Amino acid sequence: MSLKKIAIVGAGITGLTTAILLRLSGYNVEVFSREHPVIDHKNPFFASSFPAASILPHSFKSPISKKLFLSSTLFYHQLFEHNFPGIHRQIHYEVFSEVLQSNPTYLPWLPGYTEIPVTGRYFIPHLPNNPLSRAWKSSMFFVDWPIYWKALLSTFDALEIPLAIETIDLSQIDSRFASSEYSLAILASGSGFEEIHNKPLSLLKGHLIEISNGPTLRNPDGELFSYNYTPPAKVYSTLNGKAQDIYSYPRSDSMILGGSRIAGHLIEGEWIGDDLLTGYNFIESILDWPFAAIFELNKILIEHSTNATIDAFQIKSQLLGYRYLGPNSSLCFKVDSSKDLPHVHAYGLGGAGVTLSWGLANEIVTKTNELLGKPQIYRTHTLSPSIPHNSSFEKPEMIASYLAKLNSL
Ligand SMILES: Cc1cc2nc3c(=O)[nH]c(=O)nc-3n(C[C@H](O)[C@H](O)[C@H](O)COP(=O)(O)OP(=O)(O)OC[C@H]3O[C@@H](n4cnc5c(N)ncnc54)[C@H](O)[C@@H]3O)c2cc1C
Repeated sequence: MSLKKIAIVGAGITGLTTAILLRLSGYNVEVFSREHPVIDHKNPFFASSFPAASILPHSFKSPISKKLFLSSTLFYHQLFEHNFPGIHRQIHYEVFSEVLQSNPTYLPWLPGYTEIPVTGRYFIPHLPNNPLSRAWKSSMFFVDWPIYWKALLSTFDALEIPLAIETIDLSQIDSRFASSEYSLAILASGSGFEEIHNKPLSLLKGHLIEISNGPTLRNPDGELFSYNYTPPAKVYSTLNGKAQDIYSYPRSDSMILGGSRIAGHLIEGEWIGDDLLTGYNFIESILDWPFAAIFELNKILIEHSTNATIDAFQIKSQLLGYRYLGPNSSLCFKVDSSKDLPHVHAYGLGGAGVTLSWGLANEIVTKTNELLGKPQIYRTHTLSPSIPHNSSFEKPEMIASYLAKLNSL
């Protein structure tokens, strides 16, 4: 193992997943984070506190999105097969009353993607009295976030990856990480890098509701399902007329209802951008806008489309978080070798950071191997003596099997 360390700035999903994969590849890593990586919802900029978390490349832009998505899906598939905590597979419906202007590029990448004729007598979750324009379903991995996050953190401990709670001055990385001690810095710092440079942050505001003991939704074939449904803009939209989708995802102890994707910038702490349209007549008056609309629209959809029901007294929390879209509103993934210490920039994952985490971490390992030279294969029993294993971790299957074993100890 190289004596020099790799500094990873950020302990969100990007930083944690990257640290785990680099460690399994034989690198000596150290993680630094401004926030404790706990889910406490205090800081709307710490996006990893908020994901729903579906494995779909929504609200994200990058020329390598296909590569990242397919590679990440391979990891999730293997983690699912090896029973890593918190990973499920379910039927997912994407349904629209608004006419789609173009096909999402990700459609052919979705496992089991099937168009559903909207004029037939097929099951399609939606709001009553609103004609449909398009619907499809696919088989989707889904992450039960509190369970998965806890498992990632215990993997971190099991792999003995050092984590320091420290705010790094991102304009002075070289002086904090001397090249005598560190060989590389990875900036998995979410919006941190642009914040420090006082740039307007390109964001999508998101609202979520947690329902305790939420029902599991089943289609007429008895399959567990989740949905994203976009009603007509006149029912639910932004001031600029952008139709918004509502969604529901099951968790083991709760249900997540969403949502919103409101585009804007935060400039010196002030929101400059779109907002939700407030003309909707909601009944659940105990909730503030837009949670009342999100709750009520999902409730009507669920009760119209299934035998399940939800009530306002089940509401556990109402959350607001920001999806950071990156500089120029797309992923920043690049190597900067102009400094003493090379930096890898890896941020701007929008609404898909969980979805793409394994794919992006895998790309970072490849870049690191190119920059530093691949470490000698070393025996993983140095990582965990109780699981003897002699090979390097190159295939998602081996990695998933090892991580699942670590979590079952
Ligand atoms: C409402 C909502 C719903 C979402 N739903 C989904 C979903 O269904 N599926 C999905 O895939 N994604 C979803 N996302 C997106 C996902 O949550 C993000 O893309 C992801 O969490 C980004 O992770 P990250 O690690 O890149 O950044 P972050 O989670 O923001 O982490 C950044 C890290 O960098 C650290 N940091 C920043 N600056 C500094 C500094 N100067 N010094 C030290 N540390 C620093 C922070 O402390 C933190 O540890 C959703 C997001 C929201 C808000």
